[in-house]
Amino acid sequence: MKQKSLANKVLLLILFNITVVAMLITFVGAKLIYDVTKAGISNEIVGAAETLRNLFQKEHPGDLNSSAYFIYRYGEEIVIAEDFYNIVDYIGCSDDVEFTVFYGDIRIFTTIVNPSGSTPVGTKAMDFVAEDVINGGKTMVYDNIDINGEIYVGCYIPIVNSDGAIAGMYFAGRPLRTAIDNVRMVIIGFIIVVAVTLIISVTLCIVFTEKMIKDLGDIKQYINKIAAGDFDARMQEKTLKRDDEIGDIGRNAEKLYVNLRDMVERDPLTMLLNRRSCLMKMTEFTENKILYTVAMGDIDFFKKINDTYGHACGDYVLKEVSALLKRHTGDNEAFVSRWGGEEFLIVLPSKGTEESLRIVTEILEEIRKTNYEYEGKTFKVTMTFGISQFRNGDNRESAVNRADKLLYKGKQSGRNRIVV
Ligand code: GH3
Ligand code: MG
Ligand code: MG
Repeated sequence: MKQKSLANKVLLLILFNITVVAMLITFVGAKLIYDVTKAGISNEIVGAAETLRNLFQKEHPGDLNSSAYFIYRYGEEIVIAEDFYNIVDYIGCSDDVEFTVFYGDIRIFTTIVNPSGSTPVGTKAMDFVAEDVINGGKTMVYDNIDINGEIYVGCYIPIVNSDGAIAGMYFAGRPLRTAIDNVRMVIIGFIIVVAVTLIISVTLCIVFTEKMIKDLGDIKQYINKIAAGDFDARMQEKTLKRDDEIGDIGRNAEKLYVNLRDMVERDPLTMLLNRRSCLMKMTEFTENKILYTVAMGDIDFFKKINDTYGHACGDYVLKEVSALLKRHTGDNEAFVSRWGGEEFLIVLPSKGTEESLRIVTEILEEIRKTNYEYEGKTFKVTMTFGISQFRNGDNRESAVNRADKLLYKGKQSGRNRIVV
């Protein structure tokens, strides 16, 4: 199966998620800003149109009739036009806000200037505007007013004469461009924020993921080594110290390994090394040129213990004796193994017969002293040992065989003794 990198998968997932979220935020944010800005422009121009109406009516009270148009065109046009511009200046909107006064649907005063430089005085309002405002008598706000090819948000307020007739309209408008410009700014801002967030997130994710993957790789390597039979494999301390699932996997892998190793290397009853791993350790000593002495020990009349107190009691004695042997030999350099049945092999590296005899004597003395108690019955146990040193030209079997022969000698000469 083609192996895929976990890091790449996680990275892709993160990139995908961040991009989707960024697009959503940008889209929703831009729409929101556009709507809010447009609403702001609408409010602004409604206010501007109302102010125009109020100020214009204050300056020129009374009804608007044809004479106003006439006056503008043929008589005192300069005076009223100047009034209009004064009012517009007084309202004080930004330059891109346009104002117009209509007589009926005809522009009579306006701030709009055609590209040619002329003012569109005398031109008509768009049909739908005339329909809604003059015929319908309603104040209207549109966002599709075309002035010289530019789209405006525009507010039209009807001019109502004293007889109730609609005589014309006041208009104020502002280009929609402002809203679009705002949204463009927002989108650019968002893109920058999103890009920076993306870079930071991806960097953080890469660092985090790499660390995670590295620790997973450590576990993988550990398991691979164990699978290949390398029982010296170790995991890194920091992997084992992780407080998450990866740490759990690492710790459990190690537990599994220790349990498996014990099952392979140790005797389940006494938890001593079994004969197989004992022989492997002896080979290691030989390979490392470490001389050693072996002591083969056998419990005396063990069959009788089984027969008298039961097999379970025999097991109990085996466990007690094993613990005692282990206490005296340790489990590192020197060690004791269950050779079989009630036979134990003690291996003492870098020790001669003399020192070994001293250690085994101590062991035997403690065994003799110990009272074994099982289900209310107390009894004593003795052991016989044969000690032999590994000699030049020996192999592990020959040294053990010699110790075994000495043990047999000990049995024949009365048991409960050590033969060197
Ligand atoms: P000797 O002094 O000559 O060594 O006599 P012995 O009775 O100790 O030796 P023998 O070989 O006659 O008997 C060993 C007995 O140990 C026979 C076997 O049933 C018993 N045995 C072997 N393994 C176990 C075990 O795991 N548990 C128990 N309870 N008994 C075991
Ligand atoms: Mg025996
Ligand atoms: Mg035996």
